[in-house]
Amino acid sequence: MEAEKQLKQWIEESSNIVFFGGAGVSTESGIPDFRSQDGLYHQQYDYPPEQILSHTFYMKNPEEFYRFYRNKMLAPGAKPNKAHLALAKLEREGRLKAVITQNIDGLHQAAGSREVLELHGSVHRNHCLRCGKFYGLEAIENSSGIPRCSCGGMIKPDVVLYEEGLDMDVLNRAVGYISRADLLIVGGTSLTVYPAAGLIDYYRGHKLVLINRDATALDSRADLVISGKIGEVLGEACGL
Ligand code: NAD
Repeated sequence: MEAEKQLKQWIEESSNIVFFGGAGVSTESGIPDFRSQDGLYHQQYDYPPEQILSHTFYMKNPEEFYRFYRNKMLAPGAKPNKAHLALAKLEREGRLKAVITQNIDGLHQAAGSREVLELHGSVHRNHCLRCGKFYGLEAIENSSGIPRCSCGGMIKPDVVLYEEGLDMDVLNRAVGYISRADLLIVGGTSLTVYPAAGLIDYYRGHKLVLINRDATALDSRADLVISGKIGEVLGEACGL
């Protein structure tokens, strides 16, 4: 309880909060993460998820990629939870400057957050590999098999697959926000996916808070570790 009180106080004192999160931010909205007990990596498929979600696999076996992607990566009807809502509230109050996320589900924007840096892209943006035409999420949801452009080209989601690089502009902006933050809240991430996890190295302050259900490899670096569900913890800290 002491730790939760400390978090609340730091939030109230701060006008330059940055949040950095991962899949655990959306589990309370019903979207599974990758690495915890009931996460995707513990379920059985013909191939491991990191192989299916790789660039090579997408190019060689798009039909199977899209079967997995539609079943496991899209979450129709998912709604923002208290974690998303609390962060949007902090931004409205002028305390929080940016949400940096590894998630691709668009739930921060659905909650009302405006400055959202999506390190790994978004399921809401898709492009034709041949002519570059843009498609929204409905083009994937309302098609079956391999979604095709009106020109016949294959449509690819703008999500960063394994073997693909991150958008340097987004990454640089994330570094800027983190290096200027006075309070950095990191939550719902196992901090094992690089280069995203390396971002916390750019933080120069003394209020690094980690909120996660399970321990992470970087707990010892934090000034405050809160073990719990992020929706409950942030909801409580922000009076939701
Ligand atoms: P991860 O699956 O590796 O780890 C999730 C972490 O969140 C775990 O440590 C778990 O203990 C914790 N967690 C789960 N539920 C929580 C809760 N309610 N409160 C607090 N902590 C909770 O996730 P990652 O580090 O983000 O990396 C996985 C990669 O997979 C990301 O790069 C992301 O792009 C992608 N991914 C995205 C989504 C999404 O968009 N919702 C979902 C799954 C995976």
